[in-house]
This record gives sequence, structure tokens and C-alpha cells, in this order.
Amino acid sequence: LVELRDVWVEYGDKIVLERVSLQLAEGGFVAVVGPSGAGKSTFLRLILGQEAPTRGKVLLGGTPMRAECGPDRGVVFQRYSVFPHLTALQNVLFGIECAGAPLIARLFGARRREARDTAAAMLAAVGLEHSLHVYPAQMSGGMQQRLAIAQALVKHPRVLLLDEPFGALDPGIRLDMHALITRLWQEHGLTILMVTHDIGEAFKLGTRVLAFDKRRHDPHAPHRYGATVTYDLSLDRKTLPPP
Ligand code: ATP
Ligand code: MG
Repeated sequence: LVELRDVWVEYGDKIVLERVSLQLAEGGFVAVVGPSGAGKSTFLRLILGQEAPTRGKVLLGGTPMRAECGPDRGVVFQRYSVFPHLTALQNVLFGIECAGAPLIARLFGARRREARDTAAAMLAAVGLEHSLHVYPAQMSGGMQQRLAIAQALVKHPRVLLLDEPFGALDPGIRLDMHALITRLWQEHGLTILMVTHDIGEAFKLGTRVLAFDKRRHDPHAPHRYGATVTYDLSLDRKTLPPP
């Protein structure tokens, strides 16, 4: 579904990603680990279309990646994925707009009700059916991440990109979130790409684990390090055991 062909990302003299070639199969749950600064978020931004490779190609479904906010990709960050000045329902409606529907404010009658019902159903799917009119500041960290997931999934993307989505949460809440994301992955037939600092989480949830690490590629320029995939393990499983 997603393919990187000999991808490099460089900022001036600095190599961030070096010679990364990968194919991500549809329906997989890929966990990405690696030290801070290894280029994990850069890798996700490439697949979001927010960043163009200096060299190489990034393809989605065989065609070059288009810019962000398309209906085919949803994203959740560690924090600040949702708008603080919008209620839960309004945040999810924004996710629908992002898919190219007309502005919700300009929708009337049946279409407006339909959008609202779709958003409310998505909030129910993440367990926020009683928090439709609550603002993010009034929610716990776990609830905010559930909301971010609902906003990302309401447009039924093919790929869900998660950058340390549970990194700011307490261990008990993280377990709940593992159960939630596994269920959504299976029910929606999603392809998930998740960056995490937690190796246990990577092996628990992933059907494939990628590790990025820095390698010196040019012996004549020892300060030039580029990250590459140094470890790629397919766990070859279609479903995960219940948490
Ligand atoms: P972390 O685990 O801390 O989130 P990461 O693996 O996600 O790290 P990235 O955010 O992808 O790492 O950054 C990789 C490298 O690219 C870092 O050294 C960073 O400083 C550099 N970098 C990222 N964006 C830019 C930019 N716009 N200009 C220059 N350097 C950048
Ligand atoms: Mg990062």
C-alpha cells in the first residue's frame, strides 16, 4: 500500500534518512522504534505528504504521495492533535471537512444531520458517546487521545499514522488504548504505522517492527550520519491475542 524507494531526506549537510526502501502491506500494523532524532517522525511526515524526499520516491497505492489532509490518511500525535476551542463533536466534524466535504457550517437539513450522526457514531466507537459537547481541556489525556483517534478515523482513511500516541498516558490507560486501537485496526481493516519509544508496545501491537538507527555512510565525512532501517522483523500475524 505504501512504498518508499531509495528515499533520502537531507537538511543542508545533514542526512536524516538515508537510502530507505520499504513496502508496507495493506492491513499491517507496523511499529517503528529508534532513538530520539533517528528520523521516525520525518518518516511519518513523508507518508503524510508533509515532507518531500530529497531523493527517491514515496508512493501510496502505486501513485506519488499527495499533500496532507486527503481522505486516505489520518494522523494522531502524542499531544495537541485536536483543537482546544472546539468541542469533541466539532473536532470530529472538522475531520469530516478535511476529507473534502463542504464546510459543516454551510450544511443544512439532512446533510448536516448526517454529518453529525457520522461524527457521533465515531465518538461512540472510541467510547466518548457521553462527551459530545465537552472541550478537550475538560478531558483526561486518554480521552483526548480517543478524540484524536476519532477525528483521524471519521473519514475512513486507508492508513492511520500514530506518532507516540500513548506516550503521555499512564500505564493503565495505555493498556485500555492498546485494546481500543487493536479493535479499531481489526474492525476497520486499517493499515497502521505507529511510532513508539516503548519496545514492549511495539512487539505487543505490531505485525511488523521496524527500527531506525544512525549509520555513518561516508568515511570521508564522519560527521554525516543518516538513519536507515537497521532492523525489520515481520511477526507474521494477522490478529493479536486479546490484551
Ligand atoms: P524523537 O524520538 O525525538 O521524536 P525522531 O526519531 O522522531 O525523534 P525526527 O523528528 O524525525 O526524529 O528528526 C530527525 C532529525 O532531523 C533530527 O536530528 C532533527 O533535528 C532533524 N530535523 C527534523 N526536521 C528538521 C528541519 N526542518 N530542519 C533541520 N533538521 C531537521
Ligand atoms: Mg518524533
